[in-house]
Amino acid sequence: MGTPERIREVARRIAARREEVDGLAVVVSAMGGETDRLIGLAREVNPNLPSREYDVLLSSGEQVSAALLAMSLEEMGVKARSFLSFQLPVFTDGKHSAALIKDFGAERLREAFARGEVAVVAGFQGINQEGDITTLGRGGSDTTAVAMAAALQADMCEIYTDVEGVYTCDPGICAEARKLQQISYDEMMELAVLGAKVLHTRCVEMAKRFGVNLLVRSSFNNEEGTMVCKEGDEVEGALIAGVTYTRGEAKISVLRVPDTPGVVYRIFAPLAEMGINVDMIIQNISRDNYTDVTFTVPEEDLDAAVKAVETLARQIGADGVLYERDIAKVSIVGDGMKTHPGVASRMFGALAEEGINIIMISTSEIKISCVIDARYTELAVRVLHDAFELGAAEQS
Ligand code: ASP
Ligand code: MG
Repeated sequence: MGTPERIREVARRIAARREEVDGLAVVVSAMGGETDRLIGLAREVNPNLPSREYDVLLSSGEQVSAALLAMSLEEMGVKARSFLSFQLPVFTDGKHSAALIKDFGAERLREAFARGEVAVVAGFQGINQEGDITTLGRGGSDTTAVAMAAALQADMCEIYTDVEGVYTCDPGICAEARKLQQISYDEMMELAVLGAKVLHTRCVEMAKRFGVNLLVRSSFNNEEGTMVCKEGDEVEGALIAGVTYTRGEAKISVLRVPDTPGVVYRIFAPLAEMGINVDMIIQNISRDNYTDVTFTVPEEDLDAAVKAVETLARQIGADGVLYERDIAKVSIVGDGMKTHPGVASRMFGALAEEGINIIMISTSEIKISCVIDARYTELAVRVLHDAFELGAAEQS
């Protein structure tokens, strides 16, 4: 909802949807760019960003949207009423800027439905036990919507976004990318963690916990979208749901680490203390009681991590530390892996055929990730998409 015209368009769409369903509640986020603008203002007056006031400020964007949308609906002859989180109330824990929803009050929404009103709820905000305003973290309106759907035991929660749904891979990289009709919660969570930017992990997690059917669709057109639902409810049941990638990581190796109990702990404890998120870890098999330990960290933490690890390497008598920035992680995700052997070898074979070297590998029940040279990211994504026949041509 970037402009008044867009708000009217959204209102028109809601008005049309209102004809089809009884009891419609809409969660809004701030107008495009507004949250960033507010953060900018805060930085100018107080770079420390005091957390309580920061949330008071940021939550205002959603208040504006809720009021404008309700007004626009009224103007079209659709009865509507806006609600802020304190009015429902939406209770959260105390963690400003990253609050977790504890309890979503749906009573006033049901009353609004009974009066034939569309309820327009300000997303992203809540109140804590002290009655102070909290916010849920960037992109948090999706989470508000899922929590609301759960509280209302709604049939479905539709997420309107700037893409048409969840794709088998980034359509910007791969022309054959296909929009999925359905995807399971677990697959969606893995894809979100591994780089797909459609939905936040937290929002999908909550949808899974409460069994909320999530329909991801475009806010710009009426295309069908992708349903995120329980595994087994999908009609497709494909082996692999999609291929995804992340760049922004870097690799650190600690060489010839004396292989004794506690060394790995000594390497990683300081990183944990610094709040650095370590992703993949490989420890080689020990030879002559020495081993190499390699792991990845977010690129922005590389300098700090290397500094800490170099100090440690000296203390534990390791040979030294190597690091490398230009790496990427490509991943395939699919529930089907649980029951079908041979997925990993198909992945490795496809990369090998293109001469793409695999630097590190990690797996879970439903995903396989390979770290490769960042130069080959696009190629690897395309090759894997092809190898698992995810493209439109093969499927139809
Ligand atoms: N307005 C908030 C943000 O920009 C929440 C949201 O958009 O979901 O992060
Ligand atoms: Mg599936």
